[in-house]
Amino acid sequence: MGDTVNILGVQVSTKTMAETVDTLLGYLDEERVHCVFTPNSEIIYMAYKDPQFAQLLNSADLNTADGIGVVYASRILGQPLRERVAGFDLMNRLLERAAPSRRRVFLFGSKPGVAEEAADKLTQLYPGLVICGTRDGYFKEEQTPEIVGQINAAQPDILLVCLGAPKQEKWIADNRKRLNVRIVLGAGGSLDVLAGRVERAPESWQRLGLEWAYRLKKEPKRIGRMMALPRFGLTVLLKGRKYR
Ligand code: UDP
Repeated sequence: MGDTVNILGVQVSTKTMAETVDTLLGYLDEERVHCVFTPNSEIIYMAYKDPQFAQLLNSADLNTADGIGVVYASRILGQPLRERVAGFDLMNRLLERAAPSRRRVFLFGSKPGVAEEAADKLTQLYPGLVICGTRDGYFKEEQTPEIVGQINAAQPDILLVCLGAPKQEKWIADNRKRLNVRIVLGAGGSLDVLAGRVERAPESWQRLGLEWAYRLKKEPKRIGRMMALPRFGLTVLLKGRKYR
């Protein structure tokens, strides 16, 4: 996985955004599946509670620090990450750079209709990019072989899996051997944001490290999930050094 910092049992890449994008572009030239996850504090805390999930995350080629909480944790542990590498930004930068060489992308996840709207947006944003297929993220387990077949038949270079965490990471780990793609990226709610269904925090909030607060303001029902944030912080303070 290259240089990483161990945050509560999860190996998080120390690469900057620019370095990560270059690494992913390199993956496109290698004939094998590369898994990229973008865990935030909530997901890392989930992995701390569930060692099997931690192992699954660590089987990725790269875990990037999606949330500012992960960056703060690395500082507390004395191995500061240089910056946050948010999944949504990483996806955009990768697709922007992949577009001129007409790379093929498959969008998998979100409610029916969302992936198609996201596809329109991506082709407007990044001329040259080929969206070779879409599929919504609501399916029964027994439909997975058919979905994998649909993805492979579309011959994508890049597969975005947007089923939310931990569903997307588990789906990717279960199916990586059957997928014939170069990069599979767990990208959470990215299709919803592209399709304009969910609004991302303004940059000023992001710069202040307050994207989580904006999200909470917009979706107060996330409060239960977000209680993982203080628990994550406290656990890093009390137990984080054990994992370094
Ligand atoms: N989703 C899905 N299938 C499911 C459950 C969720 O496709 O069975 C989608 C949901 O429509 C949304 C995304 O997964 O687009 C989850 O977004 P969220 O912002 O919750 O992602 P996270 O914060 O977990 O990365």
